[in-house]
Amino acid sequence: MSDNSVLSDAERLRLFEAITLHAGDAGVLVARAAAPAGRVPGATEPAIPSIVFVNDALCRLTGFSAEALHGQTMGFLVGRAVDVTSVHALLAGLPETGSGAAALTLRRRDRTPIQVEVSVQSLAGDHGEDLLVAFYRDFTDKVASDHWFRALIENVTDLIVVISAEGTLTYVSPAAETLLGYNPTVGIGRPLSEFLDLDQHPDLDEVFTDVISTPGAHPAFGMNVRGADGSVRLLQASVTNRLDDPLVRGLVVACRDTTDQDEAEHLLAEQAGLLESVARGAPLEATLERLTRMLERRCSDAAASIGVLDDNGAILHSFAPSLPKHALEELNRSSPRSALGRILREPQPSPVFADIERDRAWHHLRATLLDAGLRGAWLYRLIAPGDGRQLGILAVFRPTAERPSASEAGVCERVVHLASIAVERWAFEDQLRHQALHDILTGLPNRTMLLERLSELLERSGRPRPDAATLFVDLDLFKVINDSLGHAAGDEVLGQVACRLRAAVRPEDFVARFGGDEFVVLSEQVGGVDGAVRIAERLAATLQQPFSAAGASVVVTASIGIALAIDARMDAETMIRNADVAMYHAKELGRDGYVLFEDSLYQRVAHRLSLEQELRQALADDLIEVWFQPQVRLSDGAIVGVEALARWPRTAEETISPGRFIPVAEETGLIVSLGRDVLARACRQAAAWRRVPALRTLGITVNVSARQLTDASLCDTVIDLLEENGLDPSALCLEVTESALVRDLDRAVQALDKLHGIGVRLAIDDFGTGYATLEHVRSFSMADELKIDQSFVADLERNLSQDRAIVSASVVLAHALGMTTVAEGVETSRQLAVLIELGCDLAQGYLFSRPLPARDLEPLLLGGAISLDF
Ligand code: C2E
Ligand code: CA
Ligand code: CA
Repeated sequence: MSDNSVLSDAERLRLFEAITLHAGDAGVLVARAAAPAGRVPGATEPAIPSIVFVNDALCRLTGFSAEALHGQTMGFLVGRAVDVTSVHALLAGLPETGSGAAALTLRRRDRTPIQVEVSVQSLAGDHGEDLLVAFYRDFTDKVASDHWFRALIENVTDLIVVISAEGTLTYVSPAAETLLGYNPTVGIGRPLSEFLDLDQHPDLDEVFTDVISTPGAHPAFGMNVRGADGSVRLLQASVTNRLDDPLVRGLVVACRDTTDQDEAEHLLAEQAGLLESVARGAPLEATLERLTRMLERRCSDAAASIGVLDDNGAILHSFAPSLPKHALEELNRSSPRSALGRILREPQPSPVFADIERDRAWHHLRATLLDAGLRGAWLYRLIAPGDGRQLGILAVFRPTAERPSASEAGVCERVVHLASIAVERWAFEDQLRHQALHDILTGLPNRTMLLERLSELLERSGRPRPDAATLFVDLDLFKVINDSLGHAAGDEVLGQVACRLRAAVRPEDFVARFGGDEFVVLSEQVGGVDGAVRIAERLAATLQQPFSAAGASVVVTASIGIALAIDARMDAETMIRNADVAMYHAKELGRDGYVLFEDSLYQRVAHRLSLEQELRQALADDLIEVWFQPQVRLSDGAIVGVEALARWPRTAEETISPGRFIPVAEETGLIVSLGRDVLARACRQAAAWRRVPALRTLGITVNVSARQLTDASLCDTVIDLLEENGLDPSALCLEVTESALVRDLDRAVQALDKLHGIGVRLAIDDFGTGYATLEHVRSFSMADELKIDQSFVADLERNLSQDRAIVSASVVLAHALGMTTVAEGVETSRQLAVLIELGCDLAQGYLFSRPLPARDLEPLLLGGAISLDF
């Protein structure tokens, strides 16, 4: 065909066949450059090669026959000027690249347009002939779908960008505006990396290299992209290689903004972690610090501060790791009553958004905060999830006075919620901690805390510290108050005692409730023994004023033991035990006093404790006996009654006197059962004697402790015993010591009234020793007998007018009140003579008989009246 053709026709045919086979469905044409180097001399555009071969597919595609196309230029097939230009551009690149592609609109024979994708390959050099082959693929449907697709991507919220092989952006979807604040055109022609927060993406290049080199790869990755406002958004991207797609010619990157979702997941994870650590009891400080950091990470340039309020609205703790220290201090110093103080404690309406420069309330702190570059504040209340109490405040300081964005407000609210949980939990635990170390009733530190404090004190010194004292304060006969006035009143008294003890010592001294009615005072630098004794005296004095509880006035005394830290090896337990031992000794000495510990006290106390154990056992074994001492009528010497006196024969040789075991029984409460025992034995014996005709009118006198008077069942016990033994109530006389009346007059009067009501006789025992006032005696006027204490009787021996006067006055008083007088402890005829002279009615004493077991006393009882002529 052409002169400069180098291929033979057969060779050319074989080439065309090979191309056709390779092309599949595509239309193919082979064209030959019109002039060497593809250029017409003088022409501005390269000459368009003329067609030398077309396959059937191209004929079908264009509607032209092969014959019609042969010899035509490739331009013959395109319909529009713009497409002619594209063909030129495609061909112009061929010498360098050897291949090219373009999307073109062809004009068919019937003049309808058809979209094709054309790719051109140079066959130059292989055979000396300047041939090129072009493949045409129908693209019409694809373009239609491309329109649809474009519409789609322009409207989805996901961001779609196309990156050229060179790495610059060639397409940016409109979502860039909404997601990142960029006009989509801004990025065109610029590298993607310009928009990335690069520190985070060392591997992005690798991703793109992979995508380019691995066909079909579809990797997904996250990238942090900086938005127009500087904020960083996390985009989850997937990339598709469409470099070969002539319509795209690039890497299509579809990005979804997962910042919020990620944030939410992060927050949730962080929240879960926080709640878990709160539940595990992480220190409040650590939790609040984490919370402030969590907030600050999400609200740029914020300094968060969390303040914890106590019940009175005072700022207990505050955590603000990023707030300048002096600013926080100023903040905490703000008075609760100031405008700011009020806002801080109760921001209303919550939350409050403040402009520190303008808002009046910030007046005091303005300079400090503005100096620190803080101008805006958002204030949120921390509310107890349980009961709505305000627990604290979250203050978020910002360099500007802007309000939080929706997401910032969300974070703040979440932090508020978490902080509230943490603070409430902490407050609860704090309360538990407090409860574990304090006594609920008095609010004083408890035994645990006392031991802790004392150990600390002793360890701190590590050498003898005679200036540190432990005072063990035990209320005397407190059981009586509890039993007589009820536990509520007892608690009331304990509370008042705690207050008075606390007020009686220096603020730095330590007052603890050790248990029941026991208190311990620790005092450092008391100034040796004298100083410690002065404290004990002060403690005793502060209890002297009567207490009022349950409408009654109650007198409380205390026994106090003092121990000093004289031994360097002294430990807390030892020191308290020493003070306790000394206190026991004070009790033994008659209560209402103090004793300084010395080693010898141990033995006494040990003895006393074992006595208590033994007494308990003796009672259980029914070993307590009752002996009787006659009471003699001074007018005729007749034995009108007997006083029952408890005896404890501990061994065959030793009988313990009630003076030793009754106080132990009273202190331990054993007196109630012991007293019942004595009463039962006495009634039984009296009944037995009264069955003897000569003793028909014999009276029986039984001692009753104050503690027994408070026993609600006493009256019933008495009634039962009288009935059981067929005794007339008037046969029984109950003796109550004067001191029992002084201690709790109201209660004693109540109990005795009741007993008197059933016809039982009553006697005031040990009159003159219990500091009873006339008032007391008058309130006790229902008593039938007044027993003049043996100390006065003993003094009559000396025949001093003063002693006679006391006895005489007692007799006169008793008679005036209609009582019978009984003189106790009459040992000599001289005493007897004076008593008779003074008009005393009855007497008992060794002069007539010692107390004796019933059987031993019987001869005397049956012997008739005693001669009073001694
Ligand atoms: P009290 O009620 O004042 O009893 C009189 C005490 O004086 C008795 O001592 C008696 O043995 C003693 N006594 C009698 N005559 C003479 C005397 O001429 N000279 C001397 N020096 N003493 C004399 P006792 O039996 O040792 O009892 C001591 C105290 O123990 C009693 O004093 C009483 O308060 C209490 N007590 C005794 N038995 C009981 C009891 O069953 N219940 C209660 N609650 N207290 C009891
Ligand atoms: Ca008595
Ligand atoms: Ca007496």
